[in-house]
Amino acid sequence: MKTVYTFGGNAPHDDPRQKDKTVTGGKGANLAEMASIGLPVPPGFTITTEVSVQHLNGEDIRPQLEDKVADALAHIEQTVGKTFGDAADPLLVSVRSGARVSMPGMMDTVLNLGLNDETVAGLAKVSGDERFAWDSYRRFIQMYADVVLGLDHGLFEEALEIAKEDKGFYADTEMEADDWKTLVAEYKQIVQDELGEPFPADPLDQLWGAIIAVFASWDSERAKIYRRLNDIPANWGTAVNVQAMVFGNMGDTSATGVAFTRDPATGERAYYGEYLINAQGEDVVAGIRTPQYLTRAAREAAGAKPLSMEEALPDAYGELARVFDLLERHYKDMQDIEFTVQQGTLWMLQTRTGKRTAKAALKMAVDMVEEGLIDEEAAIRRVDPMALDQLLHPTLDPDAERDVLTSGLPASPGAASGKIVLDADTAETWAQRGDKVILVRVETSPEDIHGMHAAQGILTARGGMTSHAAVVARGMGRPCVSGASGVSIDVKARTLRIGGRELKEGDTLTLDGGNGQVMAGEVPTIEPELAGDFGTLMEWADKHRRMRVRTNAETPEDCRMARQFGAEGIGLCRTEHMFFDAERISAVRQMILAEDEKGRRKALEKLLPEQRKDFHEIFEVMVGLPCTIRLLDPPLHEFLPHGDTEFEELADATGYGVDHLKRRAEELHEFNPMLGHRGCRLGITFPEIYEMQARAIFEAACDVRKESGEAPLPEIMIPLVATKRELELLKALVDRTAKTVFEEKGLEVDYLVGTMIELPRAALMAGEIAEEGAFFSFGTNDLTQTTLGVSRDDSARFLAPYVEKGIFARDPFVSLDIDGVGQLVEMAAERGRATRPDIKLGICGEHGGDPASIGFCEKVGLDYVSASPYRVPIARLAAAQAAL
Ligand code: PEP
Ligand code: MG
Repeated sequence: MKTVYTFGGNAPHDDPRQKDKTVTGGKGANLAEMASIGLPVPPGFTITTEVSVQHLNGEDIRPQLEDKVADALAHIEQTVGKTFGDAADPLLVSVRSGARVSMPGMMDTVLNLGLNDETVAGLAKVSGDERFAWDSYRRFIQMYADVVLGLDHGLFEEALEIAKEDKGFYADTEMEADDWKTLVAEYKQIVQDELGEPFPADPLDQLWGAIIAVFASWDSERAKIYRRLNDIPANWGTAVNVQAMVFGNMGDTSATGVAFTRDPATGERAYYGEYLINAQGEDVVAGIRTPQYLTRAAREAAGAKPLSMEEALPDAYGELARVFDLLERHYKDMQDIEFTVQQGTLWMLQTRTGKRTAKAALKMAVDMVEEGLIDEEAAIRRVDPMALDQLLHPTLDPDAERDVLTSGLPASPGAASGKIVLDADTAETWAQRGDKVILVRVETSPEDIHGMHAAQGILTARGGMTSHAAVVARGMGRPCVSGASGVSIDVKARTLRIGGRELKEGDTLTLDGGNGQVMAGEVPTIEPELAGDFGTLMEWADKHRRMRVRTNAETPEDCRMARQFGAEGIGLCRTEHMFFDAERISAVRQMILAEDEKGRRKALEKLLPEQRKDFHEIFEVMVGLPCTIRLLDPPLHEFLPHGDTEFEELADATGYGVDHLKRRAEELHEFNPMLGHRGCRLGITFPEIYEMQARAIFEAACDVRKESGEAPLPEIMIPLVATKRELELLKALVDRTAKTVFEEKGLEVDYLVGTMIELPRAALMAGEIAEEGAFFSFGTNDLTQTTLGVSRDDSARFLAPYVEKGIFARDPFVSLDIDGVGQLVEMAAERGRATRPDIKLGICGEHGGDPASIGFCEKVGLDYVSASPYRVPIARLAAAQAAL
């Protein structure tokens, strides 16, 4: 199997493996693709991800690669007409990682590789620029020492700072050739002192050191965290790309930049990007110098002075614009590009599908269908359902007052308020204890990623629109304001100044990622806009999906919201949630504490009108749509008072003594309540509870039918059934109650009685249970708990390490364990259908809102999924993707 692929020059690009990201990684595959369509790509080669996997497994990869790398290096040498290590005119290369999916900034890169005391002289001569050559050399030592030799880059930063101070310089650009020479000597001394051996001078040694280090960076701490946050498997590995260097720092006709073919924040069809004249790639993303605009229009709109690339380097810009169009037409998607102009000539260093905000993703998908670039189905496939979440949440009220402290770049849209925190660890700790936090940093680095994830929003003092903070925040859907130069931070004192005002860690701040404003205090928000591109894409999704989408909701407000989001019924109304109201809880407690059925009935009488009112409102909101109402599920003791005051209050209300109440509470105590006296077991032992609930449902349904003329469609659901007999008894109770109410009211409504499948026995016996139940709703929360024997409530402590160690690919309470629990679902669906071909099948566990689980539901042929209101649009899109 080929493990080293060359690209550029006259390299062949016809092996399909070379354009397969799983083999050559995103960067390698796209470099080959760009070269094959005739774009200017510096020649190079890619070592495949398979080699990375061997390296991960502890194999020595060098022996098998040595000849292949030598041949590939010869390809680069022939194409550019330079020789690696040639003292007169050396070839220099970059060594970069490139995983299947982009992991911005998470792995390592080495540039300018091949320099030593001899080759630097050759580079100086050939380029005619001694300063440039020595600057490149010191950059190389610094990077190599950090990435390959594992030395602290602070040591080198410090030496540079001291050198500048000695000279009275402020910026790096003031350093002359001789200053860099002196610094290079110092850098080499640092390496000697720290390692006890000299900096490697042999270019081939350098190359192998870098290749191995880049492979190893797959397992760096930050890469691991990023993988965990983005569900990237640990066994993919990364490819390594070695490529001829081109230089953006060879004077004023050279430049380097990053660009998007469309605006990644808004989706607008306008070239978008940043560049720097006379600079190397890392300068743009690292936020060390402030980059300039790409287009004249963007520069003018921002009122900025320094010339845009369009104005400063018109020929190279023209070529770039041509490349943009070619790339979009070729990939049929927005591209994120890195380029370098070396003395007027444009070189493409990378292209990849650009990360974008949810808003931009929608706009681009809809626009591209209108432009004829893609079809509706491609548009549906292209938008990540989970990303819609960003759009469904409120934005800042435009009419609310804003105490604007300063402004920065609108790096990632959305509104966020929270307490200021000044480092990533604090962000994580505070967020874990329930605080909303805004992470404020001078600039972010990949080490901050866990803090960015924990924060509601991110504010940085430095960095452009393509800085690390901006790219990562957009990917995570966190609002972000970057490059807010009015922010200065004193990390030691835990204080900061924003626009002249003194603030401290813990003070509240609001960010508007849409316009870059930073505001004191919390600013009120308004509901999101659900029309426009969102509406269009949802319409297409609805056209292409087969499964229905319902909601889990129990209040009229939630039902209304869910309908706005497109819910087509209620899939789960958890009636116990209607009991938590302060007034009702007292009646519930009286019922629980009652000594006998008579006492319980008396308390239930108080609850009946309340429940009836709830159902009445819900039926009105959900007119014409099916409503699955689940009878009481949790163990009774969940409703009991906690703490002395609550017991005293209850004693006042019921007339029982506190001691009596406490004794009764103790009697109800269970060692394992999740497997205890709950679900239909309550209905079997205290039928009067379910009878009251059924009565409330039927009375409300009859009343609504009478008032509106339209009959509601109640589906009464019995929880935690394990046997057919349980369902048989309880269905008979519901039917009896219906008959009585219909006689009393003098009218009838259609209804169904069905069950949840949330115990393994129920799944096994589904064929028999279907004789009694008209529908099954898979309660995959409990089904996961009971199949895995893992407690829903106690699993947080050990599930994260389980996921890290690859025991579960994802938390099985978030994404269905398709291999295990999925088998039970599939089997129960089949057995249920065998008994009752028209049985209605749905899912109402949390998995009903998880795109991967929804894909499985489609495969099994469920009729609907049910999700919490905010997840309804996600489920609509995921169901469409599953059906395509
Ligand atoms: C379930 O178990 O999946 C379910 C929906 O019920 P609950 O979460 O209320 O136990
Ligand atoms: Mg359940």
